[in-house]
Amino acid sequence: CGIVGYTGEQRAAEILVSGLKRLEYRGYDSAGVALETADDQGTCALDIVKRVGKVAGLESELAGKDSDATCGIGHTRWATHGRPTRENAHPHVSCSGRVAVVHNGIIENYADLRSRLIQSGHVFVSETDTEVLAHLIEEALDTSAEAGTTCDLMEALRIACGQIAGAYGIAVVSADEPGVIAVARKDSPIVIGRGTQGSYVASDVIALIDATRDVVVLEDGQFARLTPTEITYTNAAGEALEPVVTHIDWDI
Ligand code: GLU
Repeated sequence: CGIVGYTGEQRAAEILVSGLKRLEYRGYDSAGVALETADDQGTCALDIVKRVGKVAGLESELAGKDSDATCGIGHTRWATHGRPTRENAHPHVSCSGRVAVVHNGIIENYADLRSRLIQSGHVFVSETDTEVLAHLIEEALDTSAEAGTTCDLMEALRIACGQIAGAYGIAVVSADEPGVIAVARKDSPIVIGRGTQGSYVASDVIALIDATRDVVVLEDGQFARLTPTEITYTNAAGEALEPVVTHIDWDI
């Protein structure tokens, strides 16, 4: 239902929570975030915090963690496939726990993809259509690693989107590419913007407006790769696109 993402210099948890609060008006049954956190060895790991109920509940859980992560994604879910439970709340992670996905919309062919992925050894933990995305991205990354070729998160998301049918706004992070958020859209809104202290993505401009009024409305079939200092736009073939910037001059 609602997507937010931030990568930059600021603490991500508070930015994600305030973005999710702005999206609350749309209605939702559960909420969650994935934050890029350093583990005891200083290696990046994903910290997933999600729960049924209000963003306020998520906010207090996050306040207790006091995370200094500077990159993360968040979601408010309006269940279409699978009951409103913690397991079905987004973000959904791959088997390795190193890729996390938030998704708005419906993946029509998820049942076929799910059986194929289960046959090739992927273990599913939710009843959602969304979870196939985390496994498809992991599969693309693993396949290229085995073949000795390089496939980054953006390319893996492109490969995953080539296999799904339906409507989607998607944001993905990987613990192996800290600071990067990969984004895709088809028939589900996504807006992207650069603020003075980082890069932002959301499903509704209302969640970005405190950070920037110059936004790019992603079009169907377009992809974006956000880093703290740069945003690049590509099409399904991976070719670079020149973004069209829209200035928002209304107030909320
Ligand atoms: N189809 C997904 C689910 O049921 C996403 C729903 C949404 O847009 O919030 O989890």
